[in-house]
Amino acid sequence: MFRMELPPGVRTILSVLRVNGFRAYLVGGCVRDACMGLPPHDFDIATDASPREVTQAFRDFRVLETGIQHGTVTVLIDREPFEVTTFRIDGDYADHRHPKGVTFTSRIEDDLARRDFTVNAMAYDGETLVDPFGGQADAEARILRCVGEANLRFREDGLRILRALRFAAVLDFSIEPATAAAVHNNRELLRQIAVERLYAETRKLLCGVNAPAVMREYSDVMRVFLPGLSDAGLRAFERTDCDMILRLALLLMDTDAEAALRYLHADNKTIRAVCALHAAALPDGRHLLASLPPEQARRRIAFAAATGEIGEEEAAARFRELEAVLAQKPCLTLRDLAVNGRDLQAMGLSGTEIGRTLDMLLERVLSGTLENEREALLEAVRQTQ
Ligand code: ATP
Ligand code: MG
Repeated sequence: MFRMELPPGVRTILSVLRVNGFRAYLVGGCVRDACMGLPPHDFDIATDASPREVTQAFRDFRVLETGIQHGTVTVLIDREPFEVTTFRIDGDYADHRHPKGVTFTSRIEDDLARRDFTVNAMAYDGETLVDPFGGQADAEARILRCVGEANLRFREDGLRILRALRFAAVLDFSIEPATAAAVHNNRELLRQIAVERLYAETRKLLCGVNAPAVMREYSDVMRVFLPGLSDAGLRAFERTDCDMILRLALLLMDTDAEAALRYLHADNKTIRAVCALHAAALPDGRHLLASLPPEQARRRIAFAAATGEIGEEEAAARFRELEAVLAQKPCLTLRDLAVNGRDLQAMGLSGTEIGRTLDMLLERVLSGTLENEREALLEAVRQTQ
């Protein structure tokens, strides 16, 4: 028998809807996660109440109506938001992504039938699991399977192709053969999907525990929107932790990563971080930390280890060295130097000479031939005069 622990906010929502004469269920990811013994992260509620009726039932609560045209009302219980969505059937799909219209229905089974995968198409009312497509069995067997005929479901909404890979990677599921074949066969439909959506799914996919295997098996699908995907990067991928920046850097190591990421409308911070990994040399810890922040310096070593640029032992030694340097809170930038431009000016230096001398001092401190102490630095300057 299926049982699921419901937090107080969820219980409040279910009971308010019931007291008002409506049916109410938890649906989607939270039921799936509970079936697998995972802690759910958000609770989506489905009901036969219309959005107007939901708003009315929760008149004593704060309600946000931002998603109301899709049938979703957000109810705040103790400041925590819960999405309450009216059972619906999607109309015909106009463009492989957006249903032309939303039709409400009073049957939970109809609402479940429009959902993408069997494990995502279950509902729970606090007592009974509604599972018309065998989602619980699939969750237990870790199988991802389309609700209905996979080719049709992907033609309705091409994003489901990438969602399949995302769930397989994140949940560590295998994709059932007919669904897998349809993923490959319909991959070109991804061209019709907004790149922002592709990128959002890809980010989740990349952090999945099973991402390396999924990306390799479905590289033809990924290449539809990431044509520069590197074979060496795919192999290297396996030797890394779940780190999105590092994994992107590996996958795009043989291509113009900036162009690929701009095409996907990635944010500038991610683009800069990925490109910096490609551009950075691999000097000793102090120099590495002089050019990259600590997190990026660690990634640079992990990148080199994953690609085979350095061996495992060398990587371990470099990681140790990096942490040792960090523990000393070392001088890494001009600002950390124990002297500044004004000190040099006072010694009679001027113009570009000052900048060059400061660079020279920093370089000597970084390479360990000079202590970052005021007197020692001033003495070193005097010797050059
Ligand atoms: P996550 O753990 O990432 O939140 P989730 O299953 O909740 O996973 P969402 O994208 O939040 O995924 O969608 C909620 C539910 O809505 C899904 O479980 C699924 O039932 C349905 N759904 C979402 N997107 C689609 C889609 N493109 N086609 C069909 N059903 C979908
Ligand atoms: Mg969700």
